[in-house]
Amino acid sequence: MTDLAGRVVLVTGGNGGIGLGMATACASAGARIVIWGRDADKNDAAVDKLRAQGAIADAFVCDVTDPDGVAQTMAKSVAVAGRLDAAFANAGATGRGIPFLDVDLAEWRRVVNTNLDGTFLTLQAAARQLVEQGEGGALVAVSSTSAIHGAAGNEAYGTSKTALLGLVRALAVGLARHQIRVNALLPGWTLTEMSGPGYANERFRAVTTSRTPVRRWADASEMGPAAVYLADPTISFHTGDTLVVDGGYTVF
Ligand code: NDP
Repeated sequence: MTDLAGRVVLVTGGNGGIGLGMATACASAGARIVIWGRDADKNDAAVDKLRAQGAIADAFVCDVTDPDGVAQTMAKSVAVAGRLDAAFANAGATGRGIPFLDVDLAEWRRVVNTNLDGTFLTLQAAARQLVEQGEGGALVAVSSTSAIHGAAGNEAYGTSKTALLGLVRALAVGLARHQIRVNALLPGWTLTEMSGPGYANERFRAVTTSRTPVRRWADASEMGPAAVYLADPTISFHTGDTLVVDGGYTVF
């Protein structure tokens, strides 16, 4: 069993979906949890769930696209939790199904701003904290299988999730001297608030399910074990990687 006791794990977008699945699993492994999200009610509900399972958890309202907000919330988080050991840049936004020929720059920037700029700001703030502590740690960018397959109709999403792989590889090289590991997690189709409309579309659900060898979408809790693994300080030689958890979708 991986033991994260005494470790502090930050999950942006941890108040629901994949983020809460990862936070729940890390809490079960003993970690103290810090959640960032924009919606205070969702934050409170997630903290209640984690505390109900016996975890020590706190949440902070933070928009990861706001540079000052990220810096201030990192300072507040460390003041409350005492330290940082692993950070999951999981907060994300998807497209609105606008065809490529019609999508405008504002809509493109909305998605890229959250997925790419928000991850940059989160991982930079986390890296600064880990370097200051001087004891290493783990950074994880939550990408997507859209970084592998063509995300037609969701180009800004696929592009931003692909860009995260470049960021992860660069940081893995640059931060290794600080014993900081940097990896990407690429979930496949997972039923969450974000993907709910796709799941509700019978044709889309049938096509994506038939192309997934395990023949179903994932539950958000199924991203938990991978998160625990990536946060585990004993995997000291595993960095710069892209961990795909997709029921076989990308190899089918
Ligand atoms: P959810 O909609 O359930 O979660 C998205 C989370 O991101 C929410 O907690 C939301 O909280 C938070 N968030 C969004 N924008 C911001 C922001 N600007 N600042 C801070 N928090 C923000 O979706 P998922 O769980 O599906 O998505 C989690 C990650 O997994 C995303 O990066 C997504 O791209 C990725 N992913 C999802 C897949 C799927 O099939 N579901 C597949 C592959 C990857 P709040 O609203 O309170 O801000």
